[in-house]
Amino acid sequence: SSGVRAPDSNLRDGVDIALYAPGVAKPVRAAFVVLVRNSELPGMKQAMRQIEDRFNGKFNYPYVFLNDVPFTDEFVTETTAMTRANVSFGVIPSEHWSYPDFINQTYAQECRQNLEKQGVFYALSESYRHMCRFNSGFFFRHPLLDELDWYWRLEPDVEYSCDIDYDPFLYMSRRGIKYGYTIALHEYPETIPNLWATAKDFISLQPEFIRHANGMQWLSDDGGATYNGCHFWSNFEIGSLNFFRSKEYLAYFDYLDRAGGFFYERWGDAPVHAIAAALLLSKEEVHWFEDIGYYHNPWTNCPQSHESRLRCHCDPAKSAIHHYWASCTKSWLELPSANMSETANP
Ligand code: GDP
Ligand code: MN
Repeated sequence: SSGVRAPDSNLRDGVDIALYAPGVAKPVRAAFVVLVRNSELPGMKQAMRQIEDRFNGKFNYPYVFLNDVPFTDEFVTETTAMTRANVSFGVIPSEHWSYPDFINQTYAQECRQNLEKQGVFYALSESYRHMCRFNSGFFFRHPLLDELDWYWRLEPDVEYSCDIDYDPFLYMSRRGIKYGYTIALHEYPETIPNLWATAKDFISLQPEFIRHANGMQWLSDDGGATYNGCHFWSNFEIGSLNFFRSKEYLAYFDYLDRAGGFFYERWGDAPVHAIAAALLLSKEEVHWFEDIGYYHNPWTNCPQSHESRLRCHCDPAKSAIHHYWASCTKSWLELPSANMSETANP
């Protein structure tokens, strides 16, 4: 018959969910990590409602809310009421959300105006740049994350369109995965004119940090000369905090930071994370969560399988994977595997 039938095994899009069901193992040290503004409270509640109904009602992972200014009582009370899980609220240290002394702020302002003339989104915004720099180099250093090994980034206004019946943190930790994504896109080149040259300078200084030379094929279509813009869309991420805390990633971030592109250009945390994930992690340590239905304006990830119709409300035809701008998922999956100088430790 051709109707949608209930699955006859525990397999959900290839994942044996019984292995990672609630209560089968000690929960990993993980939390939702949410950078958000007080003004985004309604969108935050919407995103929490969906993640609670689709996943966290069964798993009860805590939330860590971060902000560059203190959260209002209203924000605290209303988000706390959305979940049974623990919630904590932190202010970002000002040195993680301000101009470093090596940045020329007059020049930065001229650069913003030039980008505005080119019609770049958020060209004039200083807070957007602090946000991107924070997400690139500092979120994993916040004291509220000190006791955690894993994070799941959550933004206001996103939608989760499928039941998630297993624990992605446990799945990742058991399988040696360090970084998980749902959508991979091309970046707007005007926001990152010198990111690639800077990253390549870093690599030439620290070639021993590269564990995945094939990652270069994903990032560049011309043998490394130029960056094709492929990145994992970072408004959704499930990742290992210890990857970002590694000496390799910290040295990479510091090198980029000193080059000034977070302020003189408008480097996004997504390409910054993706270049690191592609080169410092093996192919097997990066995972596409094909089975997680997710929407952040204007892109969606929707599972294609027949089985998923029973647990999702998204339209598979609208999934980003059908669009050329999101072809970076396909090109990641097509990379040859196993080109590691070390083996992943599961
Ligand atoms: P976009 O997805 O690139 O359009 O950027 P967003 O506006 O969604 O910002 C990314 C994330 O950072 C969201 O979770 C925002 O709530 C958060 N964010 C952006 N700017 C600020 C800010 O100035 N302060 C705080 N506290 N959060 C911010
Ligand atoms: Mn967003």
